[in-house]
Amino acid sequence: MQLIMLGAPGTGKGTQGKLLSERYHIPNISTGDILRTAIEKRTDLGNKARTVMEKGELVPDDVMIGLIQQRLTEADCQNGFILDGFPRTVTQAAALDAYLENLKKPINAVIALEVPENEIIARLTSRRVCRNCGKDYNVITNPPPSDNNCEVCQGDIVQRADDTEETVKRRLKVYDEKTMPLQRYFKKQGKLTTFEATGTIAEIQRRIRYFLDNEVK
Ligand code: AMP
Repeated sequence: MQLIMLGAPGTGKGTQGKLLSERYHIPNISTGDILRTAIEKRTDLGNKARTVMEKGELVPDDVMIGLIQQRLTEADCQNGFILDGFPRTVTQAAALDAYLENLKKPINAVIALEVPENEIIARLTSRRVCRNCGKDYNVITNPPPSDNNCEVCQGDIVQRADDTEETVKRRLKVYDEKTMPLQRYFKKQGKLTTFEATGTIAEIQRRIRYFLDNEVK
């Protein structure tokens, strides 16, 4: 199963992708997580990505295409994968399609998540995350422990640099301009299925699994 999770920031792509990853035993590949790790480690990629990400803009297509092609050659991807945050432009989607076509292993389905914009802004500005293991918290719905140490790994819980209100608004604008056209792109291929992603995490997951188990070959 080779899946793409599509949706604006804050629609729950990562949360749902990680749960699908456990269910189908395939990796959830978050390009945002790969870039944030590179920034922490101060690699060349991280140094290139840092300012772009802090402004809510996109890392250049050629960098992202190279990065994902490299990742997809790894052993854990050979039985399938879930892409969370890639592709984000039509150029990236076309490059991915060409790459997978060559391997005769096309994408099976694109899961698009939709959430109203006011809820997205509320979700992202109240999101907190463990710097070490990536566990998500939310100051309103799932507050971090009072000592601010992660309950899983004791790491520091922080706000992502791009989860401030101003940057969230920029990210949503970039999403509308650069990533929304992908809905049409995948619809034309007959691969797009849209889910309203409000309600509980478990309920949304149940609907996606039902669809994948019954309607995707
Ligand atoms: P995310 O964690 O998916 O919200 O990604 C955080 C940030 O990483 C984005 O706002 C972009 O700056 C960068 N990024 C992640 N994936 C991509 C991609 N496929 N293309 C360009 N930039 C990306």
